[in-house]
Amino acid sequence: MRKTTIKKSLIIFLALIVLLYVLARIFGPEFLDRQFNSVIHPAPYNISEEAQTLYQSFDFVSDLHSDLLLWKRDILKRSDYAQQDIPRNIEANMALQFFTLFNKVPAGLNFESNPSDSDQVTAIMILQGRPVNTWFDLTERVIHLSETLHQFAKDSNGKLFVIESKSDLTNYIAKRKLDKNITAGLLGIEGAQALKGDIKNLQRVYDAGVRMIGLTHFFDNEVGGSAHGMNKRGITEFGKQLIPEMEKLHVLVDIAHASPKLIDDVLAIATKPIIVSHTGVKGTCDNVRNLSDDHLIKIAKTGGIIGIAVFEHAVCGTTAKAVAKAIKYTVDLVGAKHVALGSDFEGAITAIFEVSGLPLVVQELLAMGMSEEDIRLVMGDNVKRVLLKNLPD
Ligand SMILES: [Zn+2]
Repeated sequence: MRKTTIKKSLIIFLALIVLLYVLARIFGPEFLDRQFNSVIHPAPYNISEEAQTLYQSFDFVSDLHSDLLLWKRDILKRSDYAQQDIPRNIEANMALQFFTLFNKVPAGLNFESNPSDSDQVTAIMILQGRPVNTWFDLTERVIHLSETLHQFAKDSNGKLFVIESKSDLTNYIAKRKLDKNITAGLLGIEGAQALKGDIKNLQRVYDAGVRMIGLTHFFDNEVGGSAHGMNKRGITEFGKQLIPEMEKLHVLVDIAHASPKLIDDVLAIATKPIIVSHTGVKGTCDNVRNLSDDHLIKIAKTGGIIGIAVFEHAVCGTTAKAVAKAIKYTVDLVGAKHVALGSDFEGAITAIFEVSGLPLVVQELLAMGMSEEDIRLVMGDNVKRVLLKNLPD
């Protein structure tokens, strides 16, 4: 009798666990996505005709950083939440969005000091029902996420392209001259921990389409120190081996989130343009995440570009004006040829605006007296120039 009761309770308990798992699998991914990727000022926006007309005249708007691929959303469908998707990017005249693969983030995340011994992305992969090899293996994780972009492109009816080479980009630019209702993505990695300290994995992620690697994310890794790590060290032996190999393969080096020491060390050995995919600048917003004038000047000297992000912690404000202020400050310091957009859309941030709000930045830059030509460079022409020179043939 007692045995039967225990057995019954056990069955009910197990059934409850299964039910909870099924419910979490169905509702969890969208819940997380909505929870983490909100917008302070959602569309529609009140934009002056002058700014809107100028913005629409740009043939190459580009943004250096989005974590959209992390969230297991059908990006080919318009969502009524978060910050972007392919239909919204097309409507917003976005020619090329960098999709950067967010691959590990420690528990208890903060901006000052994070250990590397935990990983919340594992739980996200399991909740989203991703392949088992992505649960604990960071290289497999980024390769899988890269494949999802290629699959979206295949399923897009010619609306979404993946750019991996100079010729891809040239062909795409020619196509877009005839039809602006298309958009493209370029794959990057946020945090070289995805290479697991093994140089052979660089070729594997390259083969998956990755053309930019952010050296560190929120913790120190095999390459060097993070601005938010425990020891904020400089470059490691592996890092010294990695940079020249990345340059040989024409994979761009991104130093967003790097510790000041790591930035110094990379600047000392890099021979190609350095990218900062998403940042703020100490000149308008002084915190551990943002770049000093000295670093901005040195990065520009490599022929590199600095992408300004669109969330409060990067620009110390909650308006498009704060974003424009950071852009203007950087342009005044290093020249318009070295500044770009690096929104950090869908990067577990509360964005100031969604993708269709980009003309608001144009409006503010015009109000600050920036020339139309300089605004055109910042909104995407700089990215086009650097890619046409530095992508593989
Ligand atoms: Zn980031």
